Amino acid sequence: MSDRTPTGDPWLLTPGPLTTTPSVKRAMQRDVGSRDDDLRATDGRIRRRLLEIADATEDHACVLLQGSGTFVVEAMLGTFVPRDGHLLVAVNGAYGRRMARIAKVMGRRVSTFEGPEEAPFSLDRLEATLVIAQDVTHVAVVHCETTTGVLNPVDAAAVLVRAAGAALLVDAMSAFGSLPLAPCYEAMAAASNKCLQGVPGVGFCIARTRALSGCEGRAHSLSLDLYDQWLRAERDGQWRFTPPTHALLALDQALTELETEGGLEARAARYAENGRILVDGMRALGFTSLLDDAVQAPIIYTFRSPADPAFVFADFYARIRTRGFVVYPGKLTRAETFRIGCIGALHPTQMHAALAAIQATLEDMGVQDCAPEESRS
Ligand SMILES: *Cc1c(COP(=O)(O)O)cnc(C)c1O
Repeated sequence: MSDRTPTGDPWLLTPGPLTTTPSVKRAMQRDVGSRDDDLRATDGRIRRRLLEIADATEDHACVLLQGSGTFVVEAMLGTFVPRDGHLLVAVNGAYGRRMARIAKVMGRRVSTFEGPEEAPFSLDRLEATLVIAQDVTHVAVVHCETTTGVLNPVDAAAVLVRAAGAALLVDAMSAFGSLPLAPCYEAMAAASNKCLQGVPGVGFCIARTRALSGCEGRAHSLSLDLYDQWLRAERDGQWRFTPPTHALLALDQALTELETEGGLEARAARYAENGRILVDGMRALGFTSLLDDAVQAPIIYTFRSPADPAFVFADFYARIRTRGFVVYPGKLTRAETFRIGCIGALHPTQMHAALAAIQATLEDMGVQDCAPEESRS
């Protein structure tokens, strides 16, 4: 099929790493020294542009960190929550649960309030919990909970958190670079390889400078200490430990491509169109989406697995892959589901081609009916 990517790899309809453009991959065909002015200039440009994307004013700082997204989330929690602090996490999926686990592993006091995965977290529950737990110092939330693709009410949560005298920490990993988020937080973490369309390897935290400057000595870890990392970058523009040079070059190029595309609004519009084509096409094939359209972010979509015994996800996955597309397993605790992403260097052409591949695959497998099992929820 001529639907393949330029490298012949399948298109990645996943939550990341994603299909990147040839020009982003080409940007990595260089070796730059970790202490060289060249890299320092690249870093400075990246940090300045990330702050612009975050709409973060003069009183915010951007700290870059090596590693996948979880590393920078762990670094954010460890750097901002004091050792005698109390973290409250809003949990409606795997990434909220992961933040609670991180806090527990690092020995911070942590509480959660959990709600259904197919709905945004409840602001009423947040407010009520903050009234009961007066000693909560920090609240952690996920912007787009990639477990299902549900969009959480971060702005409204920020108002409640501020009223309670606590500080908000946001995992904006899967939305940053597409969905706007006002800088209503004390700190926010995201990474290079989702909506920014860079390659994996660079995480970053955008934080209020005043809050960050009070974080000396809080971190439980040397390598994940964002205060230390920030201080060094401010002092002489250096990384403390080997920087992911190639991933930084790719991110710099990816940020240029985001600007060229027309910024967040244009990117969000492309993803929304991709998502609309996907969900309409899947419904036309008989699939049921897990979420109501009103709470769905145009990032990743969760579909119920058909009850038809001819549908076996591993087989479905392998056959679609042969046709040039990689889909994603479900991550839900309760319902049988699978996921399809619409972010990355993907356009309507690929979404239409993916639907054609799915239709052909269902025919090959002999799946007659895509309705999910009634009793499942
Ligand atoms: C992808 C993602 C992460 C980070 O996951 P890694 O596998 O460590 O990159 C964290 N939070 C959310 C919401 C994500 O989508």
